[in-house]
Amino acid sequence: MLYFDVGQPIWFHLHNVPAGFSPPHSNGGFVVLSHWDTDHYAYGRQNQSFHKKHWFAPAQTSVGPNAHTFAMQLHSLRRLHLVAPGKSSRNRRGARIIRCTGNSVNGSGLALHLRAVGRDILFTGDAEYHEIPSMRGIRLSGLQLPHHGGKLSGVAAIPSALAAPARAIISCGRPNRYGHPSVVTISSHMKANWKVEVTAAMPGVPRGDRRL
Ligand SMILES: [Zn+2]
Repeated sequence: MLYFDVGQPIWFHLHNVPAGFSPPHSNGGFVVLSHWDTDHYAYGRQNQSFHKKHWFAPAQTSVGPNAHTFAMQLHSLRRLHLVAPGKSSRNRRGARIIRCTGNSVNGSGLALHLRAVGRDILFTGDAEYHEIPSMRGIRLSGLQLPHHGGKLSGVAAIPSALAAPARAIISCGRPNRYGHPSVVTISSHMKANWKVEVTAAMPGVPRGDRRL
């Protein structure tokens, strides 16, 4: 089992966690961590079973003290595999880890390109499209939108969606202090033929899982 981020809402948004939440779990498997922000790793830090998994994470310098402590803990357990700038992986068993090229913590982490059962799926974490190299020209049929559906800087085109099914997911809870997701971001993806769903609670739809 492959996890792309095992986060949870930051403390002032903790009320957004669905009641009785527990992620799918197996004893094996590994984690690809997009970057060292708490909303992307906190669940894995707090739940011991994730300390036994191998974590592939970006080598980043300006991380907070909690992230640093957790990284050292994983390192001492020999479970941390850091990916340096420029060191994207090749496709192995249908998965390719991409080291992003931005300067910020959000933009310099890892993205994940899955190529399985004839589908190309991109997980962006909080990186924007122009910060994710080597994806140009690849037509996707699954997408996790950057940065909880927040406003994009607009310097890169929205990836083109392959013919149906082309599903895109925004990971966020509502309400939140950041105003995620952005209506402009959602509509620009819809114009690019994406069917966009949000993990937040909507009228008649509880907070929780969505299918890519
Ligand atoms: Zn985030």
